[in-house]
Amino acid sequence: MTLENIPTYDPEHVGRVGEHAVVVGASISGLLTTRVLADGFDRVTVVERNELSDEPVARDGAPQTRHPHLLQGGGRVILDDLFPDFGDEFVAAGGLVIDAASDFNFYDEDGYVAHPPTRMPLYAGSRPLLEYIVRRRVADIDGVRVFDGCHVIDYRMDDTGKAVTGVELRGESETVLSADLTVDATGRASRTPNWLENQGYTPPEVADVTVDLAYSTVTVDRDTDDKRAFWAPASPPYTRGGGTIPIEAGRRQMLVNGVHGDDPPTDIDEFRTFASTLQITELEEILETHEILSEDVAYYPFPSNRRRYYEQLDRFPDRLLVVGDAIASYNPVYGQGMSVAALHALVLHHTLADNGLGNLAIQFFDEAERVIDTAWLMAVGADFQFPQTTGPKPRGTAIMGWYLSRLTRKAHTDGELAERLFRVILMEKPPTSLFRPSVVGRVLKPSIRSLHQTNA
Ligand SMILES: Cc1cc2nc3c(=O)[nH]c(=O)nc-3n(C[C@H](O)[C@H](O)[C@H](O)COP(=O)(O)OP(=O)(O)OC[C@H]3O[C@@H](n4cnc5c(N)ncnc54)[C@H](O)[C@@H]3O)c2cc1C
Repeated sequence: MTLENIPTYDPEHVGRVGEHAVVVGASISGLLTTRVLADGFDRVTVVERNELSDEPVARDGAPQTRHPHLLQGGGRVILDDLFPDFGDEFVAAGGLVIDAASDFNFYDEDGYVAHPPTRMPLYAGSRPLLEYIVRRRVADIDGVRVFDGCHVIDYRMDDTGKAVTGVELRGESETVLSADLTVDATGRASRTPNWLENQGYTPPEVADVTVDLAYSTVTVDRDTDDKRAFWAPASPPYTRGGGTIPIEAGRRQMLVNGVHGDDPPTDIDEFRTFASTLQITELEEILETHEILSEDVAYYPFPSNRRRYYEQLDRFPDRLLVVGDAIASYNPVYGQGMSVAALHALVLHHTLADNGLGNLAIQFFDEAERVIDTAWLMAVGADFQFPQTTGPKPRGTAIMGWYLSRLTRKAHTDGELAERLFRVILMEKPPTSLFRPSVVGRVLKPSIRSLHQTNA
C-alpha cells in the first residue's frame, strides 16, 4: 500500500478518542504519530531518552541521522498535509527542494536511468534538519508535551493483564505516566517483543533478511547552485555503492557503502579511494574539486532487513500500539523508512477515525502490514539479487527481480518508464502499477539491438 491507496489526511475526520496518549520515542515515527494522535486526545506526551537540542544536530539515540536521508515523495506529501507550509519552513531553514526528474541521477543495472518528463519535487537536507522542523511543529500543537532525557523502562498493565495503562520512566521526576493509549516508536531495537513474552503473550515472529550492509558518510563542500544528487546502490555483481545529496548550508552528504562483507572505510583517505572504485565516477570527481568538511567518517552497520509480524498475533494487549521501524526496518539504500513512518501515521489517523480505541491494534496492524509489504518487497527483492543474501524469501522474488531488472534497463532510455519506476520507489504508487499492460508491453518489447542479434 502506498500514498495512492490511502485517503488523504482530513483534520475533521477524527472525533475525541481519549484523554491522554503516550508515545515512546521522538524520532520521525514518534513525532508523526504524536501529530495524528493530537487530533483525538486532549493531551499527548512524547517521551525521548535523548536530550533534545534547540538546534538541528544528530543524536546518539538515532545514530543513522548522521547519514544521508532522502524523504521520498510519498512521505513528503503526507508531511505537507500534516504540517501546512512545511516545505516553506524547511526551505527557510536552509533545506532544498530538488527535482527527482532533473536533479536526481539514479544509476542501476549498469547505467543511469533517464530523467522522467514530469517534475517530482523532493526535500533534500540533513536528517537532523528535517527532524528538527517536524519536532518544532509537533511541540507547538496544543496539548502536546515533549519529555526529553527520559527513558521509558516499562509498560504498566491493568489488573486483568489485558490492557496497557501507561509507562514507567527513568530520568524525570514523574515516574509513571498513565495513558489511554501507549505507542512504541522506539525503532528497530524495540523491547516490546521481550515485554510481551514476559507478560505471557506470544511475541511476534521475526524475519531477518541478512545483507551485511555498512554505510560510511562524510560532509563535503558544495557550490550553492549545484543541486545534483547521485544514487548508485550496490547491485550484483558489484558489492559497492554510493551516493550524494545536497543539504543545507552549501554542503552535501556523501556516502559509500558495501554489502556482504565489502566493508566501507572509516578513514577519510580510504574513503576517497573507496569512492574511486564505484561504478559511477561523479563522487570521485566531486571529491577532486571540493573539500571534505567533516573531521571523520560516520560509520553505520546494518546487518539485516528486519520485520516483526504483529498482524499475525492472536492476542495483543489493548491500548498498546507499535509503529515505524519498531515493526519493520529496511535496507536504507532504498530510502523508505521515513515514508513508511508517514504512511503509518496516515493509517493510524484513519483507524482512529473509524474505530476509536476499540480493536485499534488489530485494525492498525492489518493496515500497516499492507504498507510494510510494499516496502519490504522492494527492499528484500533487490537484496535477494545477491546470492549471498539469506533469510525468508517472499514468493515471486525471482520473477519480480528479473522484471524490475529488465524494466530498469529499458528505463535507461525511456523517460516515461523511468517515471513509473520512480513513482514506485518514491512510495507514491504501488508496485502493481508496474504491471499495467501499457508498462509490461514496453518492458517486454525486444530492444532493437536484440532484434538485430536474433536476425544475424
Ligand atoms: C543508515 C540509514 C540511512 C537511512 N536513510 C533513510 C533515507 O534515506 N530515507 C528514509 O526514509 N529512511 C531512511 N532510513 C530509515 C529512517 O532512519 C527510519 O525509518 C526513521 O528514522 C523512522 O524510524 P523510527 O522513528 O521508527 O525509529 P528511530 O529513528 O530508530 O527512533 C527511535 C527513537 O526512540 C528513542 N528511544 C528508544 N528507546 C527509548 C526508550 N526506552 N525511551 C525513550 N525513548 C527511546 C530513540 O532515542 C529514538 O529517538 C535510514 C536508516 C539508516 C539506518
